[in-house]
Amino acid sequence: MTRSSPLHARSLRGWLAHLAATERLAVARDGVSLDYEVAAIAKKLDGRQAVLFPKPGGHSVPIVSGYVAARAWIAEAMGVPESELLHCFRDSSEKPTKWTEVSASQAPVREVTIERPDLLKVFPIPRHSEHDSAPYITAGVIVARNPKTGAQNVSIQRIQVKDGHRLQALILPRHLSAFHTMAEEKGEALPIAIVIGADPLTLLASQAVVPIDQDELEIAGSLHGAPLEVVKCLGSEIRVPAHAEIVIEARVLPGVRELEGPFGEFPKTYSPAGQHQVIEVDRVTHRRNPIFHTIVPAELEHLMLGAIPREATILGLLQRSFPNVLDAHLSLGGTCRYHLYIKMKKRRESEGKNVIMAAFGSHFDLKQVIVVDDDVDVHNPTEVEWAVATRFQADRDLVVVSGAQGSPLDPSTTLTGRVDGMSAKMGLDATRPLSYVGHTFTRVRVPGEDAVDLDKVLNPNPASVLDTFLKGQK
Ligand code: MN
Repeated sequence: MTRSSPLHARSLRGWLAHLAATERLAVARDGVSLDYEVAAIAKKLDGRQAVLFPKPGGHSVPIVSGYVAARAWIAEAMGVPESELLHCFRDSSEKPTKWTEVSASQAPVREVTIERPDLLKVFPIPRHSEHDSAPYITAGVIVARNPKTGAQNVSIQRIQVKDGHRLQALILPRHLSAFHTMAEEKGEALPIAIVIGADPLTLLASQAVVPIDQDELEIAGSLHGAPLEVVKCLGSEIRVPAHAEIVIEARVLPGVRELEGPFGEFPKTYSPAGQHQVIEVDRVTHRRNPIFHTIVPAELEHLMLGAIPREATILGLLQRSFPNVLDAHLSLGGTCRYHLYIKMKKRRESEGKNVIMAAFGSHFDLKQVIVVDDDVDVHNPTEVEWAVATRFQADRDLVVVSGAQGSPLDPSTTLTGRVDGMSAKMGLDATRPLSYVGHTFTRVRVPGEDAVDLDKVLNPNPASVLDTFLKGQK
């Protein structure tokens, strides 16, 4: 594989310079408030421009938001066309690239060290949604080591900052939580490093759905097509990206839980308050003049980071059993988690239903699956709806499974007011029959419509022509 990411995608600063040069980085005026105003402005520009706040709330550390907020931008960072995005991500997850370690003096993230910092004083930490309990670190990429094997794990968890020394985090039962349980069983704290302001592909790699003990920083290396440069933390054996902006060295405490939440989450609803893990901060290292990153919850940056790794994994799993599955897309309206559109070239009648069942087995978050033929664009919700309108009959093509495991953040999985994550699954086979009479299911096309070049066929001076025509009509 000779592909590699462009050099400007290797650090946050390089990437911001590239976005700025292509009119995709807005700069706010000084003094925007950390309470909601940063989030409101970033939300307004969501998916169109990233935004830099030079002095948010009078703080000397700037904030950036929205720098991985479009599929096209992510493909660009990888150096591939958008159509190759999922394939590239899947290939990188399957063929990780070991990182290379650099010394502290070669690591920009080690330019400045602060012991026992008060995070609320050191960094501008915003408050995002109306009913959030506190300011939150929303773009904290947490690196930890398996206490038994030493293998690293990388994931993003929301972190509540009511107090700048003692944080609370919701760590859902995946790899980081397994590491914490191992440490906790021995009565020990779990050392972690919270990385803020990593390059766009390291952020994306943190969301890979891969087995425990696969270090997501090695996937970041493969996404870049070059080993990621890492540096060892001061207080632990954890290796962190050397070109990140900020690293918070901390520990998840054993046997302690504190109130965390409520917090506005990816489904654009609130996840309720609960007793969650507690993190004690030891030190901060950062670049000179660091940039703090915040992700506005439920907006495109949040959703894209979740969607692409999931789509790549689900597509890979489906294609093992069904090589005729061509594409998979988690729709925006389905919060990039719950609704999956699958494009396939059906080989046998009713195969669509088998694909629906396989899809539900691939990830418990999936709630609705729609399967369409290869003449439908799964990235266009209007086309998918058209397929349902013209190729689907509810009494024949609908699959419903009740009472399965669903997303614990889906508010509809409750009848009592408490979200329990128990969810029905709905599959719609919107593929047409393999054989049909005449043109019953043929999509209407105008011969040559795709080849029309408007620059060639339209008159560049319409006014003069229209003048002669319309005068005569008076
Ligand atoms: Mn993992």
